[in-house]
Amino acid sequence: MTEKLKNPEFKKVALLGLGLIGSSLAHAMRRKNLAGTITGHARTSATRKKALELGLVDQCFEDPGDAVRDADLVILCVPIGACRDLLSAIRDDLKKGAILTDVGSVKGAIVRDLEPLMPKGVHFIPAHPIAGTEHSGPESGFAELFDGRWCILTPLSGSDEKALEKLKNFWRACGSSVEIMTPEHHDLVLAITSHVPHLIAYNIVGTASDLERVTESEVVKFSAAGFRDFTRIAASDPVMWRDIFLNNKDAVLEMLGRFSEDISTLQKAIRWGDGDVLLDLFTRTREIRRGIIEAGQETELPDFGRAPATASEKSAEPAKKEK
Ligand code: NAP
Repeated sequence: MTEKLKNPEFKKVALLGLGLIGSSLAHAMRRKNLAGTITGHARTSATRKKALELGLVDQCFEDPGDAVRDADLVILCVPIGACRDLLSAIRDDLKKGAILTDVGSVKGAIVRDLEPLMPKGVHFIPAHPIAGTEHSGPESGFAELFDGRWCILTPLSGSDEKALEKLKNFWRACGSSVEIMTPEHHDLVLAITSHVPHLIAYNIVGTASDLERVTESEVVKFSAAGFRDFTRIAASDPVMWRDIFLNNKDAVLEMLGRFSEDISTLQKAIRWGDGDVLLDLFTRTREIRRGIIEAGQETELPDFGRAPATASEKSAEPAKKEK
């Protein structure tokens, strides 16, 4: 798995955005020698400095155009809402024959925003690695992030076959399996597997923090597995997730509609003491988790394999004072 290529497939790869995904891609490329040179761009000088310090990139530029000049592969690793302006800024500097891709969690909006701006002769192939954590920034990345995960590519009709093959091989070399879908189907699938669960997590953590009869310190102190797991998801980057909901509106609203109907059924079952309805659902959902473990997408260790927080970790984040 970690064997290095003798000759990198891409002479020069440009990473625009050097947060969790950009920095993980840099580590994954270094691990296998997938790029001769890696150039980078980030908005702030702090990120650019850190990326150089960590050796993520060989050169880092304030001007994204400088980063993409002569690059064979350009990867947009910024929040979805920032992609259009970024492409406008680099379109004149893209090399003919280059592949331009992204990692955005929504695909329909990316195609809508970027396709009209694509210069002739540049191969545009949208992508989404189904891999992530709740951390952000250049220090949060690691080479193994994509190992054993899926990367969904949503090529447009008439995409160049060779370019598509190259990008598939790139993601495989980063450790992922590749699946091809239409942007619309991707957005529907991700709405239920990722976007709505995040919205539920943001909502439940918000509701708990607004409760008046349970103090905030009690929520922290007695956070049982259920709530604690939601807080991990609800700690995800606010800008990234704002952009996801604004850009996958239709699919999220459709799935939320179904979710609301189903939760009303559960509400009714609890009110009327209908244990069969509850038991039937909880038995089916257990099977789904088993399937995810069998597919190698989750550990079967208790508590997701987490070790209890050490004393120093605990004291590093003191519980907030009671309101
Ligand atoms: P991140 O850690 O917050 O990093 C975002 C990067 O984008 C930073 O380098 C930031 O620069 C730069 N950036 C932010 N706003 C910008 C703007 N307006 N113009 C130019 N650059 C800007 O984010 P991430 O988790 O890597 O997410 C990046 C993309 O990956 C998103 O589109 C997201 O949908 C997708 N994705 C994320 C995950 C996940 O779990 N996190 C999983 C799959 C896909 P500064 O540091 O200089 O501010």
